[in-house]
Amino acid sequence: MLNFPSFATENDLRQAIVDCGRISYERHLMTSSDGNISVRMNDAHILITPSGISKGRLSMDDMLVVDLEGNIISSRTDRKPSSETPMHLEVYKQREDVHAVLHAHPIFATTLTVADLEFPMDVLPEVLLTMGAVPVTNYATPSSHEDAEVIRPFVKDHNALLLRQHGSLTYGKNLDEALIHLERIEHVSEIYWRAKMLGTVKRVPLEAQAQLIALREKYFKG
Ligand SMILES: [Zn+2]
Repeated sequence: MLNFPSFATENDLRQAIVDCGRISYERHLMTSSDGNISVRMNDAHILITPSGISKGRLSMDDMLVVDLEGNIISSRTDRKPSSETPMHLEVYKQREDVHAVLHAHPIFATTLTVADLEFPMDVLPEVLLTMGAVPVTNYATPSSHEDAEVIRPFVKDHNALLLRQHGSLTYGKNLDEALIHLERIEHVSEIYWRAKMLGTVKRVPLEAQAQLIALREKYFKG
């Protein structure tokens, strides 16, 4: 269950990460050993995937508990926590409402950043209704502290980001929400790419855009 309740046990959270990894891998949102997944256990501790392992074949004992500075608190494995832990911690530090962070390498969304295109927030109504803008960060060397630095200005006002020439970062109150954002980003990116191949990209009419943004304020915020 990815939309875990607030009383979830550590094993429930471990199982949610295993399930989220399998779904993300099977939907080609993470390939090879790419991507990483974390959930907030309490005010001080985060459960996060280890480095160098396929997220499609995680087991319950693979994840590590770290504190908000990235120190290992407990582990059932001799693996190291994800090398991109600092990026996850940056989100948890800035956003008390966030309980799950998902970093993936979705093909079409990542392609947009390689092609130096902006994320198309205005071609499908559901994007305007539920997400709004998805900023593309500056380039940062993966697995360095640079990832945490480039996302810093955007974390407060967005629930989804694209890391230039790297991948996506989505987060929410549980893994279900983070995965829904990720799937939506990839879905619209693929449609946008296909429309560009056909030659025309139609935008949602401006008046309708304002309506959708107003609805988002009412139903999808807070
Ligand atoms: Zn990555």
